Amino acid sequence: MDKPYKRVLLKLSGEALMGDMDYGIDPNVVETIATEIAEVIKEDIEIAVVVGAGNIFRGIKGSAAGMDRATADYIGMIATVMNAMTLQDSLERMGVPTRVQTAIAMQEVAEPYIRRRAIRHLEKNRVVIFGAGSGNPFFTTDTTAALRAAEINAEVVFKATKVDGVYDSDPKINPNAKRFRTLTYGYVLQNDLKVMDSTAIALCKDNNIPIMVFDLSVPGNIKRALMGESIGTIVGE
Ligand code: UDP
Repeated sequence: MDKPYKRVLLKLSGEALMGDMDYGIDPNVVETIATEIAEVIKEDIEIAVVVGAGNIFRGIKGSAAGMDRATADYIGMIATVMNAMTLQDSLERMGVPTRVQTAIAMQEVAEPYIRRRAIRHLEKNRVVIFGAGSGNPFFTTDTTAALRAAEINAEVVFKATKVDGVYDSDPKINPNAKRFRTLTYGYVLQNDLKVMDSTAIALCKDNNIPIMVFDLSVPGNIKRALMGESIGTIVGE
């Protein structure tokens, strides 16, 4: 096993919180995720989390249905705050100190995003959950993850997904599909591989932040990944 990380950013998609449901939040799934985060925080690894909202609302879908895109994106960002607060609640019930910081001010329920304050929370071993994406429409929470990782000097972005890494073709269609253990940013961008959106990949590339894609549904994987085990696919230089 490699050396554990010191400060990491974990990107949880909304879908990850949905489990096998079609919509919304599965409390059991959130609890499982929180349990694993609670174990890792004991190891003195500083953890920031960015949550998505695909389980509730995606701007692009709203826009396809005729909504104004920016308005739809703001709804998507607000939806991420529900996920952030749900994860916060679960972690706090396990005794893990947390802070939610939102990029759209909602001071009754969360702190505003303040970079230096977020770093201070991390230093005090609090899990910082970033809600409301980047605060800007036309972006994604993947890009937010890359941005916040750069801002807080995270060593790595963990992208927790429903697959165990990046393949050269769809493993559900092609039984001979091969999983990449490592990939370069350039290869991902040139071949339009669906690791994260291209803005997120470019930001990680410019700031030399590796991305590890791993399967969240395997019990213990969050701990394995954050403790430095090479599971899934690593995208880097
Ligand atoms: N969003 C946005 N700006 C951001 C982050 C998110 O406008 O900086 C909106 C966008 O509409 C997106 C939605 O919030 O569809 C939910 O985020 P995302 O689709 O990235 O969630 P995930 O796929 O991770 O569940």
